[in-house]
Amino acid sequence: MVRPAPALWLFLPPRRRRTQITVPYDGSASLGHVVQSLGIPLTEVGPPSVDGAAAGASRPLHQGAVVGLDPPPRPQPLPHGARFLLDVHLGTLARRLRVLGVDTSYDNDADDPDLVARAGREQRVLLTQDRGLLMRRALWAGAYVRGHGATAQLADVLDRFAPPLRPRTRCAACNGELVDVPKEQVVDLLEPGTRRRYERFARCRSCGRVYWHGAHGRRLDALVADAVRAVGAAGGGP
Ligand SMILES: [Zn+2]
Repeated sequence: MVRPAPALWLFLPPRRRRTQITVPYDGSASLGHVVQSLGIPLTEVGPPSVDGAAAGASRPLHQGAVVGLDPPPRPQPLPHGARFLLDVHLGTLARRLRVLGVDTSYDNDADDPDLVARAGREQRVLLTQDRGLLMRRALWAGAYVRGHGATAQLADVLDRFAPPLRPRTRCAACNGELVDVPKEQVVDLLEPGTRRRYERFARCRSCGRVYWHGAHGRRLDALVADAVRAVGAAGGGP
């Protein structure tokens, strides 16, 4: 008997979206195997319970066992720091996380094995909307991103992990570190309008792109303000 919390129902087929479901048991499958066979990646459940007591994913089951499943706590601790790797479909989310100063790797032509290998090599949490990817055995750490569109997805990531924010310290294009530079160092690279209007500049250490305050306008100012508020409310913060 499996009792999935409603927050996990999105992973289940409609006929199984209920507070208690009965699944056949072959006498040998582990708890983790039963959970994933339902379509729920193990990254999306907190410590499960069996017959009311906390249990690990490798725990063997028995006929008639009652398994309780809840999502991980929010904010979910990140023992290795807030370092993420985003699936190829999450490019807009990647740029927004970088604007907020969150360490975010993204490469729009990585295939699935590349992503899994890179997450392990760089000890990054893989963020994706592909459940199959999250169920790969070799995956170091991952999380399913909820929501359609970058705004909802960003809200979900901030709510789930409450990463420390350092707005405007990273290059939105490449994740490189931004350093302040005097205007005279970049003046030749600027359009005449920008040269006239702005005085404070930063440059990406990795790709050389030049940023100036106000470059992204009010839309990104609002993004930063909303994010700082959301993470502050969740208990994390810069
Ligand atoms: Zn850059």
